[in-house]
Amino acid sequence: MSDESFLSILTGSFSTPCADNPTVAMIEAAYRHHGIDARYINCDVKPDNLADAVRGAKAMEWVGFNCSLPHKVAVIQHLDALSEAAKIIGAVNCVTIRDGRLTGDNTDGKGFLASLKEVTDPRGKKVLLLGAGGAARAIAVELGLAGTAHITVVNRDPAKAEIIAALVRDNTRSDAAAMPWDGAVRIPEDVDILINATSIGLGDKDALPSIALDTLKKGHIVADVIPNPPRTHLLREAKARGCTPLDGLGMLVNQGVIGVELWLGKTLDASVMKRALQDIFGSAD
Ligand code: NDP
Repeated sequence: MSDESFLSILTGSFSTPCADNPTVAMIEAAYRHHGIDARYINCDVKPDNLADAVRGAKAMEWVGFNCSLPHKVAVIQHLDALSEAAKIIGAVNCVTIRDGRLTGDNTDGKGFLASLKEVTDPRGKKVLLLGAGGAARAIAVELGLAGTAHITVVNRDPAKAEIIAALVRDNTRSDAAAMPWDGAVRIPEDVDILINATSIGLGDKDALPSIALDTLKKGHIVADVIPNPPRTHLLREAKARGCTPLDGLGMLVNQGVIGVELWLGKTLDASVMKRALQDIFGSAD
């Protein structure tokens, strides 16, 4: 008789629409690479079915799942506990199921931070953050928790930027301010890191956030959250001016690494995951 197990570990993602979410390709490439008998199932879950999907994951003994739009806030009511960052951010994109208990975390900002730390330590640095949506919120909170000196949040609707700045000031030791986005933003002389956390550039290699390009200087780190295409117009301009560019693939890959660490306690090879995404989106280099 064979003692082989035919029961795979189950993980996955709940969102809608989800057909263009490449996380499954990235994570399953790494599961295969490491010989881990686990699956990552990309599920189209409509808002009315979220409660049933979460109950189903628990009933089928999944070890965890990601949730993406539109479930990042709605999922919280179905969970037993939240990580510190998820509590502050008020949104969850990664749920771990252990002994029937569901714990929510937010890996958006952590994934960005891990990617950023490959080029610089944000501690004591000054940041200009473009955008005030969900990604900007998660990034700002993690930068604050990581000891960034100051974050300026720039947004067309300054009230949304102020909410994020206040969140950083009230919950971390970092200082933060909001700035309205009127015309081309000039990058102040003392800023170390510029981050595009808007959706400008998604699926459009020519789209460019409105900034005064002559204020991009050698020595700046310029990060983009956009994973597709990875080589955004902003990053091309930054590279041409001697800045250090950081693409959105790293953020996506590191979110995968962090999620699987939470679920399985195993660290996946990030380079395998990055290659899987580059096969899909092309390289940022
Ligand atoms: P939201 O819709 O919550 O926020 C979008 C932000 O972009 C808002 O601040 C909005 O400003 C701003 N914006 C959009 N268009 C313009 C414009 N023309 N000019 C100025 N500002 C603009 O989206 P998310 O925060 O959830 O996502 C943002 C991007 O981050 C997405 O493209 C997503 O793909 C990417 N992302 C990448 C991840 C990764 O792992 N690489 C992970 C998560 C997200 P306003 O408030 O004024 O409307």
